[in-house]
Amino acid sequence: MATNITWHLFCLTPSFSASAVTPEERVRLTGQKGCTIWLTGLSASGKSTIAVALESALLQLQKHAALLDGDNVRFGLNKDLGFSQKDREENIRRIGEVSKLFASFSTVAITAFISPYKADRATARKLHEEGNLPFVEVYVKASLESVEKRDPKGLYKKARAGIIKDFTGISAPYEAPENPEIEIDTETTSVEDAVKTIVKYLEDKKYI
Ligand code: ADP
Repeated sequence: MATNITWHLFCLTPSFSASAVTPEERVRLTGQKGCTIWLTGLSASGKSTIAVALESALLQLQKHAALLDGDNVRFGLNKDLGFSQKDREENIRRIGEVSKLFASFSTVAITAFISPYKADRATARKLHEEGNLPFVEVYVKASLESVEKRDPKGLYKKARAGIIKDFTGISAPYEAPENPEIEIDTETTSVEDAVKTIVKYLEDKKYI
């Protein structure tokens, strides 16, 4: 192993062109295979809460992890997009591409977006499969009744009042996954147990 590290540094000196790191070498050198944890579910189902806790747990285990959520994507990369079906589609397409890049760099990419349409999630999955990268769909499940009760940002109230149009679960559809790799019912599962379930899945599959 030490010989290989020397060889890579040697290749990066100006008189030699750097050789590309193969996916296999990357896994060996970083000690983890990248993948994407794709959290999907209604607004307020618990995606961001679980995603933040999961990222922190993975980093504490010394694993590379990166969280893509509304805060860092909707206000940056995708700030030109709204909530029409076409824009939602493009939003998810870009998140699929970016998470794939992170996964290809041996990082556990965690995405926390409603991603309501099956076809869009299938496109993100296909992108990963084409790159031989694991795509772990996690259905963060909670009934409409319970998310409306939680309503931490008052969005359901506004949607019911017609102030927010095309709101998932109220005036726009949510297509639940049929065969997610993991399903977490946040009405009966604590955040801590949700994180444990996902970390165990990653360990069992030897992705981390
Ligand atoms: P989303 O990202 O799906 O819109 P958030 O994580 O922002 O959802 O909000 C979910 C809300 O539900 C938070 O206020 C959180 O504290 C609460 N909550 C209650 N129980 C759970 C649970 N078991 N898992 C995740 N969130 C929960």
